[in-house]
Amino acid sequence: MKNIEFKVVAKECCDPNECCVEPAETIKHEAEIANSELPIAIIGVGPIGLAAAAHLVNRKQKFILIEGGSQIAHNIREWGHVRLFSPWQYNIDKAAQTLLLNQGWNAPPPDVLPLGIEVVEQYLGPLAELPEIKPHIMLDSQVIAVSRENIDKMKSANREQSPFVLYIENLYECFSTL
Ligand SMILES: Cc1cc2nc3c(=O)[nH]c(=O)nc-3n(C[C@H](O)[C@H](O)[C@H](O)COP(=O)(O)OP(=O)(O)OC[C@H]3O[C@@H](n4cnc5c(N)ncnc54)[C@H](O)[C@@H]3O)c2cc1C
Repeated sequence: MKNIEFKVVAKECCDPNECCVEPAETIKHEAEIANSELPIAIIGVGPIGLAAAAHLVNRKQKFILIEGGSQIAHNIREWGHVRLFSPWQYNIDKAAQTLLLNQGWNAPPPDVLPLGIEVVEQYLGPLAELPEIKPHIMLDSQVIAVSRENIDKMKSANREQSPFVLYIENLYECFSTL
């Protein structure tokens, strides 16, 4: 997804009665950036999101990774005790592997079936820590809607030229203002 701007909104857990702002005022900030400067937004920091980031590093494209959980690979961690049915050699993206090997990573044995948590600790974690990727990860940021700037159901002219708008629930944005 290219051409985006962000609207960070308060997390639903905020009780409007306890917030210092009205519900209608819960949009915390709106970063408007010229289209040409907008990054590609990758929603979800699991194996696919991180592999996409590795490919974008190779192509020198700007990106951000947006993860709803408090840690990368939030979903896989939920079943980290389960062994995969495919061995390591099929679980590692080639662009990601190249970036990791450049940083001195020890590739796991190709024929071994890893546990979910081993995929996180031995592959996805080191990948997310790479200097080319880590600064672009936003955690605790759940994308709740995606739209186009100034476009609605009644207006679709120039739709494809309009930047995407991501609505993000961000725990810290919410509480930092209370
Ligand atoms: C028990 C089990 C065993 C498996 N074994 C294998 C196997 O052996 N081989 C194999 O190839 N596949 C296996 N799979 C499937 C594999 O895990 C998935 O195909 C893979 O995780 C998909 O990667 P993904 O990055 O697309 O999604 P996910 O791993 O689900 O990651 C998505 C990430 O996006 C985040 N996210 C989701 N929605 C939002 C949002 N709106 N805003 C912000 N963040 C969001 C989630 O928190 C998560 O971190 C297995 C799956 C399970 C459940």
